[in-house]
Amino acid sequence: MNNLTDTYAIIGAGPSGLAMARNFQKFNIPFMGFERHSSVGGLWDINNPHSTVYKSAHLISSKKMTEFSEFPMDEDVADFPSHYDLCKYFNDFADHFKLRENYKFNCEVKSLNKNEDGFWELTLNNDEKYLFRGVVIANGNLSEPNKPDFPGNFTGELIHSKEYKDPEVFKGKRVLIIGAGNSGCDIVVDAVHYADSVDMSVRRGYHFVPKYILGKPADTVGGMIKLPMKVKQFVDKKLLKLFTGDPERFGFPKADHDIYESHPVVNSLILHHIGHGDIRIQKGIEKFEGKNVHFKDGSIKEYDMILLATGYKLHYPFIDSKHLNLRGVTPDLFLNIFPPKEDNLFLIGLLEALGIGWEGRYKQGELIAQVVKSQLTQPEKFNEFASSRDENNEDLTGGLNYIKLDRMAYYVNKDVYLSKMKKYSEALI
Ligand SMILES: Cc1cc2nc3c(=O)[nH]c(=O)nc-3n(C[C@H](O)[C@H](O)[C@H](O)COP(=O)(O)OP(=O)(O)OC[C@H]3O[C@@H](n4cnc5c(N)ncnc54)[C@H](O)[C@@H]3O)c2cc1C
Repeated sequence: MNNLTDTYAIIGAGPSGLAMARNFQKFNIPFMGFERHSSVGGLWDINNPHSTVYKSAHLISSKKMTEFSEFPMDEDVADFPSHYDLCKYFNDFADHFKLRENYKFNCEVKSLNKNEDGFWELTLNNDEKYLFRGVVIANGNLSEPNKPDFPGNFTGELIHSKEYKDPEVFKGKRVLIIGAGNSGCDIVVDAVHYADSVDMSVRRGYHFVPKYILGKPADTVGGMIKLPMKVKQFVDKKLLKLFTGDPERFGFPKADHDIYESHPVVNSLILHHIGHGDIRIQKGIEKFEGKNVHFKDGSIKEYDMILLATGYKLHYPFIDSKHLNLRGVTPDLFLNIFPPKEDNLFLIGLLEALGIGWEGRYKQGELIAQVVKSQLTQPEKFNEFASSRDENNEDLTGGLNYIKLDRMAYYVNKDVYLSKMKKYSEALI
């Protein structure tokens, strides 16, 4: 057993793990990171066997809205960089701040148990054991595929988007993509250039946002004026009507939610290709039968390949879920970071919000480091924080009625979230 009871462990060296490492470094808190891949960058490193990016993947939020503010991307990096650029960015970040030195690579954390003294026993896949004062889980939200069970059996080729890397796999095939989230929409556009035919099965309606509005990345337009959410929803819907029109005209169901009540699809090409007849929109799935797919409207079509773009599920195989305060399948955490009654267990990156970017994860890291520091140096401030943590009654929705899906259970309103983080951060100073 390696006894490191003054040190904090970080599980993962993706954007969130690196944001944590940098903040522990800034606050002079001893830390040690573990990453199962051979390098940093998380899912943005396509060579990481657990990466869920594909050859054509780019940011869907613009670089200015996503980057770490203390480490801006180079001027010559595009507005919506590719995963290659992003992998380089995270490697540069790790090198610039010398974070690699505190990481062990090619080691997967297999188990994490709290001992009777409150320290965390961490075991690696090579059976090495460590005892840490605390642990930050930064293992990502988008690597464990969600594969719904459809009735029947499909005898063609069936893959999940996690396995998809290269559009060559579509060559000469009649392809059906199931699901129209951001990955599904990227992949369906890839398939157009390779497949014999491309259909997309869609259950729910979406709001579509183009990548550019008036020649600027859409997420940078209008940011100067802070409007109340209801007014912003009204104005942005009008703006979208002007730029993308009505998705129902292209065969999509009517959205069952208002804009910003679910993550919008940011894609300038899908409606273009539907309009050119390259992609046909189909209803939800009734069942599979051989190579045939029966849709909810009674139509039947034959395919060679189905790609499930049905998203990912949260996955914490190394820790007993009793520590995570699960509500359904999602940890119910104060500020999406702090499990109740746990002084030395933190999650970073369990966060989705329009425009929150990696800077949002960085701010989480900053608050975690402050909380750790306060435990050691200002116990009365820490105790106050811990009682807010255990009450856990901050509303982070900004009054929006997010749709009831597992992946929306940790969605927050960016402005509200950052202002709450600031409030608790200031209270700890
Ligand atoms: C196609 C695609 C497009 C996206 N576009 C955007 C975008 O435009 N803007 C945006 O903000 N976000 C986007 N995202 C979301 C993305 O999740 C975040 O940008 C970011 O990668 C999250 O970082 P993370 O560190 O939390 O997780 P990850 O990047 O998933 O990193 C987690 C790391 O933990 C490691 N790990 C996991 N389990 C263990 C273990 N047991 N032991 C050791 N190591 C472990 C993994 O190997 C990995 O390196 C996109 C995601 C995808 C898939």
